[in-house]
Amino acid sequence: MTTVFIISAPSGSGKSTLVSRLIAAIPSLMFSISYTTRKPRGTEIQDQNYHFITRAGFEEMIARGEFLEWAEVFGNYYGTHCGVLEEARRQGKDLVLDIDVQGARQLKCRIPEAVTVFILAPSRQVLEHRLRARGEDRDEVIERRLREAAEEISNYKAYDYVLINRDLAESDARLAAIVNAERVRRTRIEDQIRPILDTFSLPR
Ligand code: ADP
Ligand code: 5GP
Repeated sequence: MTTVFIISAPSGSGKSTLVSRLIAAIPSLMFSISYTTRKPRGTEIQDQNYHFITRAGFEEMIARGEFLEWAEVFGNYYGTHCGVLEEARRQGKDLVLDIDVQGARQLKCRIPEAVTVFILAPSRQVLEHRLRARGEDRDEVIERRLREAAEEISNYKAYDYVLINRDLAESDARLAAIVNAERVRRTRIEDQIRPILDTFSLPR
């Protein structure tokens, strides 16, 4: 059974850092590579960080109904292809999505049992510092991302878990704890419980 983990955070909170470390550390997790019309940043690789496509290409995919969810964020389109969930199920892996609050809302409607995690930087000052230190965005882009952060944070109550990203190692451990706890949720392991009940001749 595939558990869907939806991770959202204002840009610069450390979401990509935490998600890539989580996937490297925990087995059987698949990262959902989104489609976007944003231009690649310096270190980003096509089809590894994102599938970078044109606006026209993205709009054709919307028209064909190929997205599980999509949204316009900072003037660019971002979307999750329907195929990623099928692929995760086929491979017997859990799926991790790094998507914004609009996408998270759409997906939670389609998959109510999805687990949602909101990552918060410890303060606006720390968030600004992280965005500037990353050195990937122009000043006006950083200003815009900071303005949007307040709006995104106001949605935190819609999430199951909130992770305050202070110390990286502490956040790694907490995110791993969330995944590991969800993996032993009763509803998820019914398949493993039933054969045990059989050995006690208990009704299923
Ligand atoms: P997001 O994906 O949320 O936009 P990033 O993962 O790119 O954010 O992180 C933004 C910057 O903050 C990066 O330079 C990253 O190395 C740094 N960073 C992430 N988490 C921490 C942390 N706990 N402490 C200090 N710096 C961090
Ligand atoms: P960035 O440009 O910093 O990589 O991402 C900007 C925002 O878009 C982040 O909040 C990120 O979570 C979100 N995002 C990335 N991929 C998707 C997606 O497929 N769908 C939605 N709705 N948001 C996404």
